[in-house]
Amino acid sequence: MLANKLALITGGASGIGKSIAKLYAKNGANLCLADLSRDTLNKLSEEIQTENKDRQIRISTHTCDVSISGDVENLFKSIRESHESTPNVVVNSAGITRDQVMLKMSEKDFDKVINVNLKGTFLVNQLAVRCLMENLKTTDPSKMPTYASLINLASVVGKYGNIGQTNYAASKAGVEGMTKTIAKEIGKFNIRCNAILPGLIETPMTNHVPENILQKIIKSVPLRRIGQPQDIAQLALFLASDSSSYITGASIECSGGMAF
Ligand code: NAD
Repeated sequence: MLANKLALITGGASGIGKSIAKLYAKNGANLCLADLSRDTLNKLSEEIQTENKDRQIRISTHTCDVSISGDVENLFKSIRESHESTPNVVVNSAGITRDQVMLKMSEKDFDKVINVNLKGTFLVNQLAVRCLMENLKTTDPSKMPTYASLINLASVVGKYGNIGQTNYAASKAGVEGMTKTIAKEIGKFNIRCNAILPGLIETPMTNHVPENILQKIIKSVPLRRIGQPQDIAQLALFLASDSSSYITGASIECSGGMAF
């Protein structure tokens, strides 16, 4: 499904990002994996190469804090050096939580979550589109089902709210609004931009949830299970592929039907 795609995945070392990287590789994409630690990414890169022995996959790994504009600029420079091209699929999966009820939330924790989840997603999308626009001199996007696909990880929490997550909910609601706006601004270049809204997914981000709370949550999910990273990866595969060539500005819930 992803032949001729070069996919950048931020937060690619763990959880949802890692699962997307593996599924994209299986479907023929070359990869640029970005995260805070290169060691973990290099291990993942070896794992993916081993899982796909029958095919030569080009994987580059990049240390990048998405909330720092200089890091994001260096990321795109080093991608160009490694692959001699610009990613035509970008998945913004880098994200953090710093939970606390609103009355006790520190300004520092509010800013940190907004900077990584919201500003980081903005910076990566902005640089990706700038690079894609430069290539327009040599490419005719109207000849392709999709010139590029940007996929942003938002959350059902941004839509419905969740106690203890004012910062996170605000960041993810922001990502949704940003996604719809980017889609309107760049649709004419045949670049699509969509948001995925996961429910509760079993990853290192959520493994601190106590068992009794987890069981309570599962009972409230119509499909009666916690989501797996692969559930999100399948949707990210569809959104990256030309099968979704007429979908842009969408925010798609992938939550087993969970609505708070
Ligand atoms: P995770 O913690 O397993 O992975 C997040 C990755 O982002 C980590 O590898 C981390 O190192 C990286 N990261 C954090 N800050 C970064 C920064 N400043 N720059 C670059 N990389 C950074 O989490 P996950 O569950 O896989 O979450 C992936 C995305 O999905 C996040 O945006 C998250 O908010 C969103 N999401 C997750 C859930 C869930 O239940 N797990 C639900 C809704 C939305």
